[in-house]
Amino acid sequence: MAVAWLEDVRSADLGTVGGKAASLGELTGAGLPVPPGFVVTAGTYRTFIEEAGIDEELFSAVDVDSEDSEALEAAHERAHELIVETEVPENVREEILEAYRSMGDGKTFVAVRSSATAEDLPDASFAGQQETFLNVTEDDLVDRVQECWASLFSQRAIYYRNQKGFPHDEVDIAVVVQTMVDAEKSGVMFTSHPSTGDPRIIIEAAWGLGEAVVSGAVSPDNYVVDRTTGEVEQATVATKKVMHVKDDETGETVEREVPEDKRDQRVLTQEEIDRLIELGRKVEDHYGEPQDVEWAVAGGEVYMLQSRPITTIDDGASGSESDSESEEDDGDNEHLLSGLGASPGIASGEVRIVTKLDHLDQVSEGDVIVTEMTMPDMVPAMKRAAAIVTDEGGMTSHAAIVSRELGVPAVVGCGGATHTLENGQIVTVDGEMGTVREGRVAVDEPAANPSADDSAPVGSRPKPVTATEVKVNVSIPDAAERAANTGADGVGLLRIEHLVLSLNKTPERYIKDEGAEAYIKEIMSGVRKVAEEFYPRPVRVRTLDAPTDEFRQLEGGDEEPNEHNPMLGYRGIRRSLDRPEVFKHELEAFKRLYEQGYENLEIMFPLVTDGDDVAAARDHMESVGIDPEKREWGVMIETPASAFGVEDIIDEDVDFVSFGTNDLTQYVLAVDRNNEHVSDRFDELHPAVLDIMGDTIDACREAGVDTSICGQAGSHPKMVDFLVRKGITSISANIDAVADVFEEVDRIEERLILDSVR
Ligand code: PEP
Ligand code: MG
Repeated sequence: MAVAWLEDVRSADLGTVGGKAASLGELTGAGLPVPPGFVVTAGTYRTFIEEAGIDEELFSAVDVDSEDSEALEAAHERAHELIVETEVPENVREEILEAYRSMGDGKTFVAVRSSATAEDLPDASFAGQQETFLNVTEDDLVDRVQECWASLFSQRAIYYRNQKGFPHDEVDIAVVVQTMVDAEKSGVMFTSHPSTGDPRIIIEAAWGLGEAVVSGAVSPDNYVVDRTTGEVEQATVATKKVMHVKDDETGETVEREVPEDKRDQRVLTQEEIDRLIELGRKVEDHYGEPQDVEWAVAGGEVYMLQSRPITTIDDGASGSESDSESEEDDGDNEHLLSGLGASPGIASGEVRIVTKLDHLDQVSEGDVIVTEMTMPDMVPAMKRAAAIVTDEGGMTSHAAIVSRELGVPAVVGCGGATHTLENGQIVTVDGEMGTVREGRVAVDEPAANPSADDSAPVGSRPKPVTATEVKVNVSIPDAAERAANTGADGVGLLRIEHLVLSLNKTPERYIKDEGAEAYIKEIMSGVRKVAEEFYPRPVRVRTLDAPTDEFRQLEGGDEEPNEHNPMLGYRGIRRSLDRPEVFKHELEAFKRLYEQGYENLEIMFPLVTDGDDVAAARDHMESVGIDPEKREWGVMIETPASAFGVEDIIDEDVDFVSFGTNDLTQYVLAVDRNNEHVSDRFDELHPAVLDIMGDTIDACREAGVDTSICGQAGSHPKMVDFLVRKGITSISANIDAVADVFEEVDRIEERLILDSVR
């Protein structure tokens, strides 16, 4: 038998029908309303490749060095060609079509989806590309099934299995063929609270087919329901700009604007919520654990499209222990230095003064690094350190950004720390208060660095579900796991400067010495680490933006222009447009990652001045083969000119703009962001800065362009308050601030709802 009916499939059949089909079969068997369908079993795929005699060639074609992008691409192409161009045996074809015809009048629209069977892969979603084809009919059904089989060999899937050392010939794939539900509304439902496991059902709902909610293309309505009483505790109605619907002529799924009168209309009626609660209770009872359900409403019926266990519920663990409390003395410890508290946490250790890079190997586990300013080469030593103290720098300096991401307490801009402190001296660094004290100091709580352990969720508080997305900033790919564990809705800014500067050569010198291909691969590998960790959550990667003084420290740095004022100089998109031969390699790296299946990447250009900069950047994107219509891309609003002229930028068809308040503030107030002598004047909440931001959000909202903040100020409660009230789409915060920002956003959104009903 090439196919099995969903009603006959159970969880125990996972190995032959894959996770998706097993779950649908299980739901059908439990009497839940699942659209009817069947599964082309994994055995059918296996028989197909073996009987056609393409198996050997297939597995050897994909046995390549996955760091070699060209080899990976060639492997994918050959595997795809072998599978889709080999004829499916007549009896199998007939059996599939026969099953299809028996589902209706022969014109039924079906969804065709891959269902991979690699149950022992840590992340089975990587086993197959999770290919989905909607609105398929008899004419192309078998072709689509073959496409699903071929998705087992997408570049990303090949890469992943090669990296994990998982044999390609041990992964099979089944295909689900299921009647399409022409949904009027759809969404997702968590049968228990996704962070705490509390008996609260969270429902997200939007108009049209479910893809818009699942892919994040639309901000859905949000309902919080007490599962015990069935009472709706909170209903947040979002503005839903777009919806996905079936085009009646072509049968294809298309994105449409939501009619004006439905945009702000509540999606779910009380009856529909009641029905969802009933189904939610049933499905959780059936599996005995909280579920994440995709559902749809069509013709007044509620259907369940998919159900998976929720994997994000905290176990309440609250981080690692400080190792220093036990031996501290409780007396008044002498206050030695003050600076900016740049990365929260309190830690004690022995001072290690690092003046030059050759001192780095003297930094042992648990030491306190004291240096003028950290540099990319110091990152491995910073990981070992208990805390970081610097003479120079502000909240957005290298030391501040990297320490925060590593979860290492830091105080920056202390003035003469390298002179005041001595090697071997025991100090306690308070990264919240910005102080350095003599000796080991008692702290009441466990060291305020609970999240340095990669496996622990950041903070132990429940993560609220908010209409304003809360994202996270990432600068070092090694912090990706920690960042992803925050539960953030994506990466609002992935800086690649740290990645590039850690090559220790300027990009130009690196390309000259090692070749363009090596440069592209370095960028790919760093960005991929983050894109993979967050997949399918979006990751906004920014093209290079380092000032010349940072490049000067590197090999090749003597060829950098000598600038009196690097912050106003040759950086960001200005340098990129002036040096297209370097810029295009960055874009090429992103393009290849798209080809490898990392569709969650979004591209962002820094320090643009006006629409001309944006048009020129977009042309470069197109010239390497990235289609701006198909990919999400946008720019940073960092110069006052870009804010005042945002209409011209919108005209270039950007999908989003993101406030870089570190730069925007320094340019609006004329205060150098890295100069500790004027750091008291660096105020992102200055009315002039807020005015500019507020006007920009208004213009973007009118044009339907998303707005975001990814500067340091996004972690500040007052800025969050201002922006949520202004209607910003997302806020990207530092790793350690994500939990607080989620709570702050939640609080303000609730307040706004209350205000609106009073
Ligand atoms: C900013 O300017 O706010 C920003 C996020 O970019 P960077 O700090 O990298 O200049
Ligand atoms: Mg900036």
